Amino acid sequence: MIDYKKLWEEKEKEEANFRNLNREWRFNLRNEPENEKLYNLICDLEEEYFSDMLYRENTIVSDYLKAQETTEDGEIEDYYPSDFSDRLTLSANQFRYYVEELGEKTMGSFIPKERTIKISPVYANDKAVVLHEMIHAYECILDNIHTIYKEILLLCLYNDLRDKIPDLQSRVLMHSHQLTNEHVLMAGGLHGALFLLKTLDLDIKCGFELGTICGYGRDKPYIDETEYLE
Ligand SMILES: [Zn+2]
Repeated sequence: MIDYKKLWEEKEKEEANFRNLNREWRFNLRNEPENEKLYNLICDLEEEYFSDMLYRENTIVSDYLKAQETTEDGEIEDYYPSDFSDRLTLSANQFRYYVEELGEKTMGSFIPKERTIKISPVYANDKAVVLHEMIHAYECILDNIHTIYKEILLLCLYNDLRDKIPDLQSRVLMHSHQLTNEHVLMAGGLHGALFLLKTLDLDIKCGFELGTICGYGRDKPYIDETEYLE
């Protein structure tokens, strides 16, 4: 039999532990200028590129969020019944961010169990690497809310991108192809269709070649498999 009370207590304990770790991390930022710089960069990138993943008004997901009400004058006005951007932001106490050595082949990593993003010192200012790890973090938060939000975002991103990228459908299908997806999706983390679409969206917004932020050749599923691991 499952002891729900015990499970709940363990969860509470784990959350308290993360709150302490986050508090400690924020307190130490003054002595960790590299971590502070990375944190500031993440906050800036969030403001510039992630309004859709924060489910804010005036984004590709607006129609999903929007409702209407009748004012006292009998006029119909748009409004947004709930604003849960605060729960989704990376600038709150959700994760900790570190610049540290990660081994020869790793540029950055997102570790859900630790609730950390770590970037290798060489790539600490590399926008593509930081954006890649940020997408993992947003997906992780959304996973804990409700899958419908991810599905809606996927649909809206796809619709938004299909005029901008003529071969979008085949890119998504090849990225997720049943014969290659174990390598392509899992190499270095979970890189599903939503992940791919958001990287393509950001490649365009940043002026990068398509596939840059997804990285590691994951946008080219038919290349020699050893290249995935580079
Ligand atoms: Zn990744």
